[in-house]
Amino acid sequence: MHTRKRILVTGGAGFIGSHLCEVLLARGHEVLCIDNFYTSARANVEHLLSNPRFELMRHDVTFPLYVEVDEIYNLACPASPIHYQRDPVQTTKTSVHGAINMLGLAKRVRAKILQASTSEVYGDPEIHPQSEEYWGNVNPIGLRACYDEGKRCAETLFFDYNRQHSLRIKVARIFNTYGPRMHPNDGRVVSNFIMQALKGAPITLYGDGSQTRSFCYVDDLVDGLIRLMESADTLIGPVNLGNPVEFTIRELAQKVVALTGSTSPIEMRPLPQDDPRQRQPDITKAKSHLQWEPKVPLEQGLKKTIGYFTAFAHQG
Ligand code: NAD
Ligand code: UDP
Repeated sequence: MHTRKRILVTGGAGFIGSHLCEVLLARGHEVLCIDNFYTSARANVEHLLSNPRFELMRHDVTFPLYVEVDEIYNLACPASPIHYQRDPVQTTKTSVHGAINMLGLAKRVRAKILQASTSEVYGDPEIHPQSEEYWGNVNPIGLRACYDEGKRCAETLFFDYNRQHSLRIKVARIFNTYGPRMHPNDGRVVSNFIMQALKGAPITLYGDGSQTRSFCYVDDLVDGLIRLMESADTLIGPVNLGNPVEFTIRELAQKVVALTGSTSPIEMRPLPQDDPRQRQPDITKAKSHLQWEPKVPLEQGLKKTIGYFTAFAHQG
């Protein structure tokens, strides 16, 4: 039995946000979802609109917001490289001004606030796997900096609001997450490979495919976010949330081809600038403090995601 809370989810119509709204509603809470639909569509939350405990509002987090809430999940920010590099100045504004506005709101109404930070704060990491103590290796003037530095600055703001105003904060460092409702054209590796495989188009492998990532299924991630939000006030983070099972991108391509039964060839393309070589979360902290670890193996999660994307491939 949970106490009913009024919860604000910024970026709630996005990929992770829509799943989070769904679970919070299922737990009996009231959910206010705000989004400017920059990288998402109402369709992601359309199935929630009939729920009287769900409210959807078009709002840009770079502008102040005045609402009464108990908790805030701050997810608003384009997340895929092609989306966040399209208007890099706006990306930094969304992270930094968005954090300032949402922290200001949390301070005013004394709400608890969680920041969706990212493994990108570690940049191209020199230590492996990455633990929360690592300060990172980010190029501050590169193409990924608008996202990486924006998120790093947001973390700074969260910790200063905690120190200066005793605000209850939670910082989650999210590693690569995938699942249904990823944008089919967002250029991220899982959506790209699945869409290409389903269409019989070449699988675009950047570089030699030996770079690694660790992929977390969205249901696991959402469970981790909620556990972190509901943990003791003393646990402010940052806490890594991601799947520690690491794959090369070439292995991912081969798995997608096998699971879709596709005839797509794998084609090599140039590696994008500042593309991290390897990435794997150290989740010791999440395991011990949140009793959390991912449960969904990659193949199982990929099958569900392929099912979702099949509809798009047939449309387009
Ligand atoms: P997404 O692009 O699907 O969702 C982001 C949402 O934020 C979208 O609905 C978008 O329209 C909205 N948005 C963007 N700018 C906004 C603004 N100025 N005002 C209001 N809404 C705005 O991406 P996602 O994968 O669901 O990511 C959600 C959050 O998790 C992001 O903050 C992202 O940085 C973080 N994250 C995601 C991953 C991942 O692998 N998916 C990894 C690390 C961190
Ligand atoms: N990648 C790839 N082909 C694609 C898209 C991405 O080989 O069509 C690679 C990309 O170079 C990176 C990894 O897959 O090494 C993950 O890319 P993504 O954009 O999903 O997320 P990132 O972790 O880099 O932010």
